[in-house]
Amino acid sequence: MTVSDAGAATDVPVPDELADNVLITSVAKLLDPVYNWSRRNSLWPLGFGLACCAIEMICTAASRYDLSRFGMEVFRASPRQADLMVVAGTVTKKMIPTIVRLYNQMSEPRYVLAMGACASGGGPFKEGYSVVDGVDKFLPVDVYVPGCPPTPQALINGLIALQEKIDQQSIAKVPWYRKDDPTAGIYPVPVLGPDLIDVRQLDLIRAEAAKQQEAQVAEVEGE
Ligand code: SF4
Repeated sequence: MTVSDAGAATDVPVPDELADNVLITSVAKLLDPVYNWSRRNSLWPLGFGLACCAIEMICTAASRYDLSRFGMEVFRASPRQADLMVVAGTVTKKMIPTIVRLYNQMSEPRYVLAMGACASGGGPFKEGYSVVDGVDKFLPVDVYVPGCPPTPQALINGLIALQEKIDQQSIAKVPWYRKDDPTAGIYPVPVLGPDLIDVRQLDLIRAEAAKQQEAQVAEVEGE
């Protein structure tokens, strides 16, 4: 008799008396589900909030919505012990350097969920002088949850979407085991000056500043 894993046929013979107890599979096929199952059911969020959306996030963790059903109720006070960053609230230019620094202090595997209109794209404060129009300008966002604010049910739906994303990952391909670029997971911390400076754009900023300077010099010399 043959036993299959997830419907795949196999030629390995299994005695009838053991058929109910033996599962034939490969290491690769077994490893991914176990690896993903353990991570998806023990996501520990970083315990911080930025604005009104954070109140809904707190409600989600309370008894009525019972986030512990998903293994996600252990909000950690330290980024070293967290693997999920729920960006709940308005991301201001003053806060984004701290948020990026916290993200860099989280160890892989780590995930980011943008909760609400503000974190996803600036929300009602988009174009505001002090507001970043989306945390994805600086961090890799895995799931966006719409709403202003999203309800606890919407957040849970987003967390389930994240679990489904984790289910699709393979231990052989996940980025955090890559050896070619050990700094690939480090995101540059933006600098807050008169405005926010994305250090990844420094060359472009310098070139534009030089152009403006040349134009001003030419203007003065032409007078
Ligand atoms: S999306 Fe709405 S509820 Fe959430 S932080 Fe922004 S203004 Fe507040």
